[in-house]
Amino acid sequence: MDKQVQKFREHNNSLLPKWYKWELHFLMNLVLFLFFFAIGVKKIDWYSILTPLYLLAAIFIWGLIEYAIHRFILHGNVFSFLHFKKEHTIYHHTFFDEKNMNMQSAHDLNRTLLRPIDIFSVLALNFCLSMLLSGVLGVKGAAYIYLGGIIYLFLYECLHALTHYYRGKNTFLNGIKEHHRKHHIKETMNQYNFAVVFPFIDQVFMTFDKKGIR
Ligand SMILES: [Zn+2]
Ligand SMILES: [Zn+2]
Repeated sequence: MDKQVQKFREHNNSLLPKWYKWELHFLMNLVLFLFFFAIGVKKIDWYSILTPLYLLAAIFIWGLIEYAIHRFILHGNVFSFLHFKKEHTIYHHTFFDEKNMNMQSAHDLNRTLLRPIDIFSVLALNFCLSMLLSGVLGVKGAAYIYLGGIIYLFLYECLHALTHYYRGKNTFLNGIKEHHRKHHIKETMNQYNFAVVFPFIDQVFMTFDKKGIR
């Protein structure tokens, strides 16, 4: 591992509160996912043949939303005052660069997973959005978007953590990992590969890093 990255990781770990435990972090995030999922779970008909299709469509819509947030807010020139922007572009992108993509231990989940406050904020905003949308799409329609958002964020967390952990030979996972590794190249992180769950979104919006291995 590069000395600079090693130094940054040690500095980052020294800033963590003494009570920090990755198990607690993981558990808090999981509880938040389950709590918000439980709020919406009864609003849709799980026996309808159309439910998987509506949910897939909602998950894809959230893929587009994640792309836009990642590209225009986290890596854009606006909203510089937002703390979670610093959490991402400075802390996460320095903790992991293109040559040092892997976690050394589960403790490094502290810079891989979103913080519980971020998960809570996104899911609470999603809930408020679904309240507004229910006036337009009806309770069921809004519930698909709401649940799709929760499932998407859960998928994002799992796949993103794998991109910083996985060392196996699965082609699909290695494809996602390589796509995200190129996003971590410091010089071009504001230009390429913002999508995590659906890398083809970068191809659609022409932000796909086509260059070879670097
Ligand atoms: Zn990023
Ligand atoms: Zn990452």
